[in-house]
Amino acid sequence: MTTIHNLGFPRIGARRELKRALETYWRGETTASELQQTAATVRERNWAYQRELDWVPVFDFSLYDHVLDTTLALGNLPERYRIGAVDQLDSYFRAARGKSQRGAAGAGTLHALEMTKWFDTNYHYLVPEFESDSPFELDAEHFVAQLRQARALGVRFKPVLLGPVTYVWLGAKRDERDPNRVLERLLPTYRRLLQMLIAEGATWVQIDEPLLVTDLSTPWQRAVNLAYEALSDLPLKLLLTTYFGPLKDNLELVTQLPVSGVHLDAIRARSEAATLAERLPDDRILSLGVVDGRNVWKCDQAATLSWLAPLHDRLAERLWLAPSCSLLHVPVDLAQEDQLVPEVANKLAFAVQKLAELKQLSAKVDEREPARAAATAPATRDTPQGIDHRSPPEPTRAVEFRRAAFERRAAQQSQHLRLPTYPTTTIGSFPQTTAIRAARAAHRVGKLDTAGYEAQMRQEIRRAIEVQEQLGLDVLVHGEAERNDMVEYFAEQLDGFAITRFGWVQSYGSRCVKPPIVHADVTWTKPMTVAWTQYAQSLTDKPVKGMLTGPVTLLNWSFVREDRTRREVCVQLARAVREEVAALERAGVTIVQIDEAALREGLPLRTADRAEYLDWAVAAFRVASGGAADSTQIHTHMCYSRFDDIMPAIVAMDADVITIETSRSNMKLLDVFDQHHYPNAIGPGVYDIHSPNVPTTDAIVGRLQRALRCVPDERLWVNPDCGLKTREWDEVIDALRNMVEAALFLRRRRQEASDAATTEPARC
Ligand code: GLN
Ligand code: ZN
Repeated sequence: MTTIHNLGFPRIGARRELKRALETYWRGETTASELQQTAATVRERNWAYQRELDWVPVFDFSLYDHVLDTTLALGNLPERYRIGAVDQLDSYFRAARGKSQRGAAGAGTLHALEMTKWFDTNYHYLVPEFESDSPFELDAEHFVAQLRQARALGVRFKPVLLGPVTYVWLGAKRDERDPNRVLERLLPTYRRLLQMLIAEGATWVQIDEPLLVTDLSTPWQRAVNLAYEALSDLPLKLLLTTYFGPLKDNLELVTQLPVSGVHLDAIRARSEAATLAERLPDDRILSLGVVDGRNVWKCDQAATLSWLAPLHDRLAERLWLAPSCSLLHVPVDLAQEDQLVPEVANKLAFAVQKLAELKQLSAKVDEREPARAAATAPATRDTPQGIDHRSPPEPTRAVEFRRAAFERRAAQQSQHLRLPTYPTTTIGSFPQTTAIRAARAAHRVGKLDTAGYEAQMRQEIRRAIEVQEQLGLDVLVHGEAERNDMVEYFAEQLDGFAITRFGWVQSYGSRCVKPPIVHADVTWTKPMTVAWTQYAQSLTDKPVKGMLTGPVTLLNWSFVREDRTRREVCVQLARAVREEVAALERAGVTIVQIDEAALREGLPLRTADRAEYLDWAVAAFRVASGGAADSTQIHTHMCYSRFDDIMPAIVAMDADVITIETSRSNMKLLDVFDQHHYPNAIGPGVYDIHSPNVPTTDAIVGRLQRALRCVPDERLWVNPDCGLKTREWDEVIDALRNMVEAALFLRRRRQEASDAATTEPARC
């Protein structure tokens, strides 16, 4: 019988039960034991969904983040989170969320651990720290509780641990520092953790080492060796688990490790399955991830069986089947979706359905007759990051980018826009208040009719315009009150997308996203943003920026069909955005911002794959923006703090103005723009919108002066570093007032300097 198992199940609950439990607990409305009760119920339900499996994961559940759970178990929670905490749970949430004291200007605020993206997913983990030399110490009561619950319920459990090398790597800021020093200190604690699992009755342990799908330097490869040699004498079976891509240069290393089995992501690395089957020693299990844990489409079982057959012949009982990676990255249960059209629903599988597929596949594998003839070579198509080579990518026609060089465009734009030096603007959204969300919810369930809803949104827009006028901002926005989400809003209106009701996927902690599904050709059918922008423009003489989400972000934050390449889908999205730009222009809009918040996060894990991605991503942005007149000013916005490795792509996008996140690095990021001679205008975010603190005028002036060391006067814009939707109106108004004042101050200084230069007689 072919063994089937799962690598991890979504933890947020089919109806986001955990989200609600966390948020009520954080608000102090429920107790810790009520929170733990909900957590236990979610786990129990998750295990029930998985009861047909041979091995069911535990520890895949987490109250916030599995990397933080590992940090806790290893006693690696920094001291600052433990001081003053009432118990372990309290220090855990301090590390996860910080302890902000609203209004207190920084002092006394305990910042959370840094958070960053988990490989190439939209999940975010809390970065471990290794700065201190304090000893690691096993502190795993949260794991023990889960194990005992699983045992009591008779679950055939398989603990899932984040492997020691990946754990160190996640915290090592990816520098080339020799990892072995930390690892050597850490391994004894890992041993104790594994011994504890043995004592609790574990036989197999899934040990995740996804770092093995990245480019590893020799010290890191050595670290992998060292770690598994050090753990090899324990009476426990380790399933070394990799996912999100092929092993490539690390494959040989993996076959030599003293572990009991290896898991390979056979969706993204199918071509390596046969090699591994051949090279793994005879006593090792090969677990193949054959059901896609990163997408929502049904598995093509016939095709899967046909490439699996020769591997089954070779491996027999040594073949295990699983999803490609943890199911954390897909929604829980398709059965809840009662509003999808059958043509779409019939093609989908969420976590629960994927496990059923696994069961069916294993039954079919077991039923088949072993092949008589020699095994035929399995198909070798990989889909690393969905890069798919089935059809040649469609060339992007250069004719689609018709704009003149930046200087000519800038000259034309300044003629009619007549903006002052250091123009002030915002990134698009204003506070999404409870009233706005209530109106949207009421409209959705039919309690508020469309006319009533639209009237309320117009009222919000009027308020946003009035505030901006009063503050004296130069380029205004309508405020995005009508948008539930910057991707879903467009997906709802474009053809080719489906929207789910409960298709939530955890992004971090209690935060979830509901990616729309691209199931057919994407086409623009009607203006999506024009009426709101036009209404806003009717209220003011200042220019109002049209606000769009860019093609690459729409792509990266959706589940995308697999019968087209990502590149092809991106071109379709780009054409749709281009139509919207044209519609805005027809309505008289002269500034359009195309947000590409997720461009960087689509970057492939392997350096060798990056150029191709950036190539088509930039091409898509140029298709989206390239139909605009030279006199239309195109802005883009990216809220990241790393550009060094994508700078040529950013230059090639050729937006007239780019707004970026720089405030947290105190404008240091601009050095990268300077080094690459970034030729167009830049709006470095002058304050951090993620904090409720109101920046002082002086602080903003200081940042702008720092910026002016890299950016010439005529190309510097003044804006916050991201949208303001998560903030309160009073904070926003105070912060923007200071921001405008800072710009005015610098303008006056500049004027004085130029007056002095012209009135003073030349000294010679
Ligand atoms: N225009 C969007 C906003 O202001 C941009 C959001 C983002 O960059 N994530 O909210
Ligand atoms: Zn942003």
